[in-house]
Amino acid sequence: MAERKQIAIIGGGITGLTAAYYMQKQNVNADVTLFEASNQLGGKISTVERDGFTIERGPDSFLERKKTAKELVHDLGLGNHLIRSATGKAFILSQDQLHPMPAGAVMGVPTDLKPFVRSALFTTSGKLNALKDFVTSRTDVDGDISVGHFFRRRLGDQVVDRLIHPLISGIYAGNIDDLSLKATFPHFLQMENKYGSLIRGLQKTTPKQQTSGNKQGMFLTLEGGLKTLVNGLTDALECDMHTGTQVEQVSKQDGRYVLDVAGWDEPFEADYVIATTPHQVTAQMFSDYAFMRDFQQTKSTSVANVAMAFDEDSVKNLPDGTGFVVSRKEGYRITACTWTHKKWPHTTPDGSVLLRAYVGKPGDEDVLDLSDDEIADLVIGDLKKIMTVEGEPKFYVVTRWYDAMPQYTVGHLDRVEALEKQLEAELPGVYLIGNAYRGVGLPDCMDQAIRTVKTIESLES
Ligand code: FAD
Repeated sequence: MAERKQIAIIGGGITGLTAAYYMQKQNVNADVTLFEASNQLGGKISTVERDGFTIERGPDSFLERKKTAKELVHDLGLGNHLIRSATGKAFILSQDQLHPMPAGAVMGVPTDLKPFVRSALFTTSGKLNALKDFVTSRTDVDGDISVGHFFRRRLGDQVVDRLIHPLISGIYAGNIDDLSLKATFPHFLQMENKYGSLIRGLQKTTPKQQTSGNKQGMFLTLEGGLKTLVNGLTDALECDMHTGTQVEQVSKQDGRYVLDVAGWDEPFEADYVIATTPHQVTAQMFSDYAFMRDFQQTKSTSVANVAMAFDEDSVKNLPDGTGFVVSRKEGYRITACTWTHKKWPHTTPDGSVLLRAYVGKPGDEDVLDLSDDEIADLVIGDLKKIMTVEGEPKFYVVTRWYDAMPQYTVGHLDRVEALEKQLEAELPGVYLIGNAYRGVGLPDCMDQAIRTVKTIESLES
């Protein structure tokens, strides 16, 4: 009888855990072993409980619209723990004022013209430039272009710098003028192609409830935070899981893969390797293979966030809403702030306020070199310019994420496809998945994991 195949999953973040879970659920005919360098599973998902507050140091939720995450939660039997984000106005900090997001805007593109025209966020000429979208010719795209180029041409610089850029930076922490349209928002290009105008296209295709006043929150988390999802996955998993175990090198020998594991006397041998580690780490693990180097030079942005707990009397004049993002070219170092107690009321005890502010962007990553106190001081200083913050926070939690946000610059998907082709030719059975490749959101990472499970399943059935 043929020996059972061995699958090594490297990295126990959401991508690695999802891959291990669906291997088990699909009953893939192979043994799975998962290696995680740190002592904890979950990777960037990291929830802290403190004095009755639930604080997310990394992601705080996932988009319901991208179905995989919600499905995984239900598969784990955790559906009754799902919590939906509260609805409420989101604001844009521009010209030292908080402006409500114009109602009906989808990723900053107006769909409802009345609130857009009335918004004080833009000047008259900024609005007129945006309305040229109705008559501007289709974009001539040969391959890929930047998101900035595409939106600036259709809607003008002001709408891009004041609204679209900060919204997109909230997801990619990158520069909109470098970001690949094909890898991030290809549907906007398709919409332009079909309707000749983004505004018209969105008016025709956006469900009414998404643009009307009584829409429901689009994001989901779980009671106890996203660690509930990680715990659900780890409780369900029956495979060998080695935490505190770093894979140092992977090489091909006699048609199989040999993993050098720190502290192990013997290497681990596998037929399949699923590397979900940050791409810079993956490059080091596969340093014997020159073709890996090009892609692995993809830059990542470093970011930090500060969760600050206050008594409710200490924070005054907070507008009714869930938080704000900061327009481009403003003199602030914070890039966004979530009024977490309003967006996620379950995270905060009564009588308290929980704010989570973000710093770090291309050109301002040195902010991570500051001490915790210095970061908290600069954040509070920025907040005081637009809100009344009195007294000290009860406590704060600073989290630094170095090289955590891979930049999908123009040509990204072509580079990923080239890498995958080379892998197939030179290292068949090795799969590189996770946030550096085909989507940065939690559901995107899960989708990549599920696709890999299906590929191996089909090879082994
Ligand atoms: P990771 O979580 O980075 O996991 C990789 C794992 O590999 C880690 O556990 C690491 O310790 C391990 N590892 C590294 N080296 C080795 C080695 N040599 N051997 C073994 N193991 C190793 N997405 C959303 O959908 N919603 C959000 O609200 C959201 N907010 C975010 C906020 C922040 C601050 C950040 C940084 C990201 C956010 N994202 C969000 C994106 C999302 O969190 C990530 O894309 C996702 O968690 C990446 O998961 P992963 O498993 O691919 O990688």
